[in-house]
Amino acid sequence: MKLLSGIVPCYNEEENIDYFYGEFIKNRPFFEENGLDYELIYVDDGSKDRTAEKVRALKKKDPKVRLVSFSRNFGKEAAMFAGLQASRGDYVAVMDADLQDPPSLLPEMYGYLMEGYDQAATRRVTRKGEPPIRSFFARQFYKLINRFSETEIVDGARDFRLMKREVVNAILRVTEYNRFSKGIFSWVGFKTKWIEFDNVERKYGETKWSFWSLFRYALDGIVAYSTMPLTAVSILGVILFFIAIVMIVFIIVRKLLFGDPTSGWPSMVCILLTVSGLQLLSVGVIGQYLSKTYLEVKNRPIYIARQEEEEDSTEEV
Ligand code: UDP
Ligand code: MG
Repeated sequence: MKLLSGIVPCYNEEENIDYFYGEFIKNRPFFEENGLDYELIYVDDGSKDRTAEKVRALKKKDPKVRLVSFSRNFGKEAAMFAGLQASRGDYVAVMDADLQDPPSLLPEMYGYLMEGYDQAATRRVTRKGEPPIRSFFARQFYKLINRFSETEIVDGARDFRLMKREVVNAILRVTEYNRFSKGIFSWVGFKTKWIEFDNVERKYGETKWSFWSLFRYALDGIVAYSTMPLTAVSILGVILFFIAIVMIVFIIVRKLLFGDPTSGWPSMVCILLTVSGLQLLSVGVIGQYLSKTYLEVKNRPIYIARQEEEEDSTEEV
């Protein structure tokens, strides 16, 4: 019998735990038809509400439910990684707790794996229910990152995907601390089938993403998957250098022809401000890469799970 693991990162999702389980379990006939066993791993990412208790209650009802509980909030990327590490399935699916990733798509995704694809990924083709300004910036972000990054980052791609064990193992080998999963999933390669669906609005609760947290996430993505900003800064330096040469020549020639009346204070100030501004910007860009490098070099664990739950899950083996 093959095993299918479902991984659900949860941060303050108490209302969604049972509801999600109900939706996931609707696939039971499909599991049986295909001779699949399942396990459902909820990763409690340091929730402050009753998420973990809800999952513990669910575990009592269905021993195939498992819980990995973090010591604090480490973020969805870390939660997905922990789930992938804990998973034992031949096929592994990552799904959001809020049902924006409909588990009803699993049979279709499984079908593609049987056809020979290594992973079936999803992308939403509409952004219904999202603030227009957010959609706008999201589109610009995907345009930008795809122009400069060698790894393809698909617009509207969700983290919702079903993977074969081989793909999961490959992802687990990518142990970087600054995890940008959209990039990692695509970076590992393999034959991917894209399934498109309309955006589904979250069931209960609110999104954890504010505009600024998304903006920072986008910047992290760019820093993680492209060194273009560094190149851009270098090119800027070269351009400024040439402008400076031309101006020096111009000033010398003017001095020789017309003498040197002391003037030009305003233009001096403008040039000074522009150039020092650009310098600060460049140092900032380099700083971004340096800070990421610093975090990687520290080589900290991606997450810390509570011991009790680890013991719990080994008992189930
Ligand atoms: N999530 C998480 N840790 C976090 C933030 C979010 O595990 O720090 C989970 C959250 O519980 C949900 C999924 O990641 O299952 C997606 O989060 P959300 O719905 O807030 O993001 P959106 O769908 O708006 O992109
Ligand atoms: Mg959501």
